[in-house]
Amino acid sequence: MRGLVLVEFGRMEVRELPDPVPGPGEVVLDIAFTGICGSDLHGFTGANGRRVPGQVMGHETAGRVRSLGAGVTGLASGTPVTINPVILPADEADAWRGREQQHPGKWIIGVRPDHVAAFAQQVVVPARNVVPLPAGMPVAHGALVEPVAVATHAVRRLPAVPDAVLVTGGGPIGQSVVVALQRAGVAIVLVSEPTAGRRKVLARLGAVVLDPAAGPLRDQVLAARGEPVTAAVDAVGSSGSLTDCLTATAPGATICLVGMATPRLELPAFEISTAERTLVGSFTYSSTDFERALHGLADAPASADNLINRTVPLDDAPDAFAALAAGDGTPGKVLVDLS
Ligand SMILES: [Zn+2]
Repeated sequence: MRGLVLVEFGRMEVRELPDPVPGPGEVVLDIAFTGICGSDLHGFTGANGRRVPGQVMGHETAGRVRSLGAGVTGLASGTPVTINPVILPADEADAWRGREQQHPGKWIIGVRPDHVAAFAQQVVVPARNVVPLPAGMPVAHGALVEPVAVATHAVRRLPAVPDAVLVTGGGPIGQSVVVALQRAGVAIVLVSEPTAGRRKVLARLGAVVLDPAAGPLRDQVLAARGEPVTAAVDAVGSSGSLTDCLTATAPGATICLVGMATPRLELPAFEISTAERTLVGSFTYSSTDFERALHGLADAPASADNLINRTVPLDDAPDAFAALAAGDGTPGKVLVDLS
């Protein structure tokens, strides 16, 4: 098979790799599409320290069942599937169901360096992490389930479903948060996003789009909504975006931090203490969030189409990584076609 190898930070190459063989309880998939995540781009540049040279990344993926290891039942060869890439020790998975994201010993496909992940034409995974796509769902949409699961979990970290929510950052994570909020029944999703290309995508998704350059976000939210919102999701994770969430929400509001732009933040502390706002964190998702995201996307194919900016063949993937990492202005998700 062929795969996309991170040769050194800043350089990828398509190389011939050994075909994986399924062990007991494992499945080998033929990968069709894998999405390029912001974390892959930071891994490509070396900025996040969570990827190493020699690695084959890729955790937002969909394909078809190719072969089954000993003891695997209930999955027919050729079945279209996606992968939940959060892997727990097999003997603990049942006890941690619904809160897998908090397991201290979990590992993530596409992050662990010694596992050849989904920027390759085949990948071997535990059978329990293989999730069949609902009938009629385009296989490319299956590659969006993982980022939408991240968003679905972030929305579930809010205490209730208010009728309006502010999102800071309208990149692929913020766009997925819009879809997840709509699925949860939030009527008005306001998104603050500085770039025009992304604002266009957000408008197509049905969000109320705000340009932070047009004035204080608090005033813009008030003008758009008539009252401050009681919940916000920070899909950037910078001091500026989180400050916006704190200052543009009502006293008592809850802010969910899911973006990971930087490991250290400077905050207006009194906006938390004196206004009794609550700051909650969100990372990955549980298996139930993943299932929710799958069915949400299956029910909203037009939104799924709007999340995809373009698809590139495997041979063009090294150039696509370089362009995205250089900030080429791509407003949405790029998928690599590995079929
Ligand atoms: Zn991702």
